[in-house]
Amino acid sequence: MAGDDMQMLEATVACVNAAIAELGIRDDMRDVIIEPWRELTAGLPIRMDDGSVKVFQGYRSQHNATRGPFKGGIRFHPAADLAHTRALAMLMTFKSALVNIPFGGAKGGIQVDPRKLSERELISLTRRYTRSINHILGVSRDIPAPDLGTNSQTMAWIMDEYSAIHGYTPGIVTGKPVELGGSEGRNESPGRGAAIVGRLAARDLGIGDSPTVVVQGYGQVGSSAARKFVEDGAKVVAVSDISGGLYNKNGLDIATLDAFLADGGAMADFHDGERVTNEELLELEADVLVPAAIEGVITSENAGDIKAKLVVEGANQPTTPGADEILADRGIKVLPDILANAGGVVVSYFEWAQNIQQFRWGLERVNNELEQTMTAGYNAVHEHSQSHGVTYRSSAYSIAVERLMRAIELRGFLK
Ligand code: GLU
Repeated sequence: MAGDDMQMLEATVACVNAAIAELGIRDDMRDVIIEPWRELTAGLPIRMDDGSVKVFQGYRSQHNATRGPFKGGIRFHPAADLAHTRALAMLMTFKSALVNIPFGGAKGGIQVDPRKLSERELISLTRRYTRSINHILGVSRDIPAPDLGTNSQTMAWIMDEYSAIHGYTPGIVTGKPVELGGSEGRNESPGRGAAIVGRLAARDLGIGDSPTVVVQGYGQVGSSAARKFVEDGAKVVAVSDISGGLYNKNGLDIATLDAFLADGGAMADFHDGERVTNEELLELEADVLVPAAIEGVITSENAGDIKAKLVVEGANQPTTPGADEILADRGIKVLPDILANAGGVVVSYFEWAQNIQQFRWGLERVNNELEQTMTAGYNAVHEHSQSHGVTYRSSAYSIAVERLMRAIELRGFLK
């Protein structure tokens, strides 16, 4: 099954199957762990600005809610389809189980390029989608969040539409604007989480406390990871976005770059650093590589040329299974997505808890709790990997699958 062509779903199922084999789980349990509980596909007609009507396809895949309500983002992307959404939903189940928060896994999507829609079209589409799936959502049922192509504004529209039907319900989504009950620190949390576990692994691998770091994809996840790495004493030597990257072996001035980008500057016009392509960036000399953009960027084509000692998967599934094997053979450690980017859903959990209690936490409390939760997740994976002599990914899935299986047993699904 190894290779770059393996679809995301097959790749996730392969990881789960390996964990099931290691744990000696019965076949009937296997199906309960893998099969999604419920899925919905919806045609979403909206009136476009030019007067025409267009029907978009929307999805919500609810993979498993044994350990808590379904939880997971909504992606607006041209490649979103049911199989892709299902794979991402499954990842969420194991992500939540691994960091031991009381959620199951789900994912939603609309097949659309949001940059091609006006704001009015985007609001109509988001509202239509919310109306189409509102009956399967709920604060104790399924709680969406942002993902690629969506943000806190999208969550505010979903919350508004859902509240129009069900009454004021801020806890129906996480990743909302802070003014509407969003949590302090939620936007930065996936990147911060990646940097927290990255630093712990760098220390355990003997790289030390000031690793050099390359970040591919300078969006929400990548930029907040870079800031947190720098805050903790690392040197970020290269970053990139879709237009290309910047490299300075002495370390980029991330604070100045952020201010420049916030003022509307393009990364390619930044005064500091040599220009590199996204492909070249992956192969730069550095201790830690953080692929934080999209799936499938580290493949069996380029895995042999990666120089980093540690890969921290800020994005979901940036490493193909073929590449994963090559990296393992070359002794390059990979902190898997279900650990490395779990910071987002961890602070989503804090946001949900704050909404339910109608109580607000300060940023310091959020960041401290995030640090503790991510550290516990990392320690569990590291210890399992040491004691069983397997990769971090394999350990992460074993821990998550075992927790899920235990909950399935306790709830009596197979009695
Ligand atoms: N979309 C994010 C993820 O893939 C966050 C999900 C959430 O907070 O529910 O982990």
